[in-house]
Amino acid sequence: MTGRLDGKTALITGAARGLGRATAMAFAREGADLALLDIAESLPGVPYPLGSASQLDHTADLCREEGAAVLVHHTDVRHLDQVQEAVNAAAARFGHLDVLVNNAGIAAPSGKATHEIEEDEWQLMLDIDLSGAWRLIRCAGRLMAQRKTGSIINIASTAGLVGYRHFAGYVAAKHGLVGLTKAAALDYGPHKVRVNALCPGSVRDAPHVEGRMLAEIARSLDVPVDEHEQIFMRDQPMNALIEPEDVADSALWLASNESRQVTGAVITVDGGFSAR
Ligand code: NAD
Repeated sequence: MTGRLDGKTALITGAARGLGRATAMAFAREGADLALLDIAESLPGVPYPLGSASQLDHTADLCREEGAAVLVHHTDVRHLDQVQEAVNAAAARFGHLDVLVNNAGIAAPSGKATHEIEEDEWQLMLDIDLSGAWRLIRCAGRLMAQRKTGSIINIASTAGLVGYRHFAGYVAAKHGLVGLTKAAALDYGPHKVRVNALCPGSVRDAPHVEGRMLAEIARSLDVPVDEHEQIFMRDQPMNALIEPEDVADSALWLASNESRQVTGAVITVDGGFSAR
């Protein structure tokens, strides 16, 4: 089956690398045009480099090679004015917006017990991993509702379903994102806009998408970084890490008309982790 997104425009946040890049490429292969957003610079308070402008450009080039028309926009999802500007630019360029993937996110700055987390660390986690998605929905959902069509995909996590020790900010943000998904699905259902969440388990830091979040999670939890993939893999009953394309393919299904009656769903892509 090809061309599953022919004629559709998708906006993807956090598209410079990792799951955002894998999703952008999967969508481009199936015919979508793309608005690719990323902060494209490092952020004080995040102790590892975020996606860069050159990584975002590289994602765009890879998608153009697949035949997609691509708009690149440097957007920090913490700022409503930047989000609105990006959505306006995408709508002006492509005339319509059919799919939104809320993928931008950070791992917790450090693995700390709940009472040890500083207020600015807590605020930063929620501002990006939860409120960032709400800002995109606020700006893009309105356009979709007017056209009576759309699919919004929130990249949550197994941390949106279960707790993880020393990870309260991330867990709270991702549980919030699952809640936002359900509430927004009710708001937008009458407007024929679907809202769903994907909950990936531990994703391999695949070099072709320049993934590094698992290593950062390992670092923040004091898991030995040279053994971290083995350690996370053991928790997943299928005994493998999730590949970026495993998540991208599920996003592709949610973006396509094949999932036309699916909304408010919280779908795991975790090799069985959350079934234990
Ligand atoms: P990543 O760090 O490789 O990519 C995240 C991207 O988001 C980066 O390019 C970064 O620049 C961007 N970003 C961060 N803050 C931003 C901001 N304020 N504004 C705009 N862009 C911003 O991580 P990834 O593994 O690709 O993760 C993507 C999503 O998947 C995240 O929401 C993450 O929580 C979720 N997730 C990842 C895993 C995993 O194991 N990698 C598992 C479950 C869920």
